[in-house]
Amino acid sequence: MAMRIIRWTTPRGGFDTVFKFVFFMVVIHAVSVSVEYAIVGEIGLPPLMRFALSTLTAAPFVALALFAVHRSYVLHLQLVSLASTDMLTGMKNRRAFFTLIENHIADGDQGIAMIADADHFKDINDTYGHAVGDLCLQAVAERLRDVTNPDETIARIGGEEFGLFIRRPTSEIRDLGLALCSPIQVTYDPARKPVCLTLSVGAARIDIGEPLERAMRRADEALYQAKLAGRGALVTWVAPSLPAQSGAVQSYTSFNPATG
Ligand code: GH3
Ligand code: MG
Ligand code: MG
Repeated sequence: MAMRIIRWTTPRGGFDTVFKFVFFMVVIHAVSVSVEYAIVGEIGLPPLMRFALSTLTAAPFVALALFAVHRSYVLHLQLVSLASTDMLTGMKNRRAFFTLIENHIADGDQGIAMIADADHFKDINDTYGHAVGDLCLQAVAERLRDVTNPDETIARIGGEEFGLFIRRPTSEIRDLGLALCSPIQVTYDPARKPVCLTLSVGAARIDIGEPLERAMRRADEALYQAKLAGRGALVTWVAPSLPAQSGAVQSYTSFNPATG
């Protein structure tokens, strides 16, 4: 409720500031005149003078209140942005990813949940150091931005793990898999050979009415298959989601840039 009031009152641009200032001045004047009339039974001063009196009295306070509301709204937006952003990559963080995709699903949007995990990342940290590892994570974020469309959602959902919500027909997943998983070269020192890293990706099309958590669990199972199969590949579920206890054999398709 309080946030709704702040959102409504906050001035947005020059014209809106003037409009809201005048609006509140008129309201204050009307209240002030009504109170005077209710108590005294008459308005003592001529209308113009009475209006000038309420305006001069209230103007500094209305200006101050509008300024304070605007500042708190800007701070609110900054806090929301900080709470939903991963500082290293500038991407959405895990919380923002789940909230956003759950809202998409609730609105009837359909898509594919994916989890991309950097391969042998511990070895990269151990060999080149944590700072180079951080550069690699930024390079992974860049890759994800390059191969996804603006209406798709990408986020860093864990240390070296990224979440994607993809809106494409199944026929386009192969190309996306090849683009995502082709090796990423990261130059950390012009005098040395770049670091080469790959991603393993698990994907599951979200069934209608399926909770996101469950689709992500299926994507995670597909990711596990990608790791088992040698990494650097995208593996998708081809069966619709099956209850874990159904005993049905899960079926996967793999797209690997190394084998085509
Ligand atoms: P796998 O191919 O099976 O995924 O192996 P992995 O080594 O990538 O997986 P593992 O879970 O063993 O290691 C993940 C590593 O990611 C360990 C952790 O130190 C590193 N990591 C997590 N967050 C960050 C980060 O913000 N920066 C850096 N540089 N490393 C990170
Ligand atoms: Mg990993
Ligand atoms: Mg991992």
